[in-house]
Amino acid sequence: MQIIKHRSELTPLSTRLRSEGAKIGFVPTMGALHQGHISLVEQSKNRTNITIASIFVNPTQFNDQKDLDKYPKPIEQDIAMLEAAGCDILYLPQADDIYGPITEVTDTFDLGGLDLGLEGASRPGHFAGVAQVVKFLLEITRPDILFLGQKDYQQCLILTQLVGSLQMPVEIAMCPIYREPNGLAMSSRNVRLSADIRQKAGAIYATLQYAVTLIPILSPEEIQQTAIASLNTLANFKVDYFLILNAKNLQPITGQEKVSAILIITAVIVDGVRLLDNIVME
Ligand code: AMP
Repeated sequence: MQIIKHRSELTPLSTRLRSEGAKIGFVPTMGALHQGHISLVEQSKNRTNITIASIFVNPTQFNDQKDLDKYPKPIEQDIAMLEAAGCDILYLPQADDIYGPITEVTDTFDLGGLDLGLEGASRPGHFAGVAQVVKFLLEITRPDILFLGQKDYQQCLILTQLVGSLQMPVEIAMCPIYREPNGLAMSSRNVRLSADIRQKAGAIYATLQYAVTLIPILSPEEIQQTAIASLNTLANFKVDYFLILNAKNLQPITGQEKVSAILIITAVIVDGVRLLDNIVME
């Protein structure tokens, strides 16, 4: 695996590879890699000829300095995992290689209002930071396909809207959520949970699955209330949201319109760690 730290080296390389006929896949990450990230690399290897991963803990998408400071950075282990997965190129920049002199979010993007609710409501400015860094990363890496995880479902929709509105020539592939044996969605933040709490956090996915079974029986509001009440009974669990939405536009389901895909999505703060999960029902 080639490790590249500067866009002045990466962009010409990517451009040359594409002109020679290679299809390029890109997997952006913030490091602290786990099998969920590696599953994105594997999907990229299945669908493209060259896989570029990036590791960059983007400061502009953290609105809580403590969360940024606590973000794990096991870089040697990350490199070994990417190498073992057969990743071709790792882009490992310092902030100035991406941003130059910019230190805050300067662009405004048309995110179609998708950024306002859910994670956007609890983390003001988060998606503006994500949109800006991903736009820069796409300009630097020039991929054919951008591989993203369904775990961050709202982020997938927002980035699809972003590349559409900027008319960037990149396809977005949303990859399934990779889970721990108890069903907990893998996340770099899971290492901050004690073994006991991490085991109990399997209840989040179990509750999403239970909600699926209730869809034909109860209204969205009733299901939401049941799920929130059940998760909040667990010690150190605090539901931020548990919602049943139209998966295409993140709007509530009114029962009036036809919905082709239903999204059941939740954020739960477990022992101070924010955990996300969702299920999409076509
Ligand atoms: P992050 O390093 O958390 O920014 O995540 C980088 C990419 O990996 C994002 O597209 C995430 O949605 C994706 N990802 C994170 N966790 C998982 C998971 N458990 N399964 C699949 N993809 C994931």
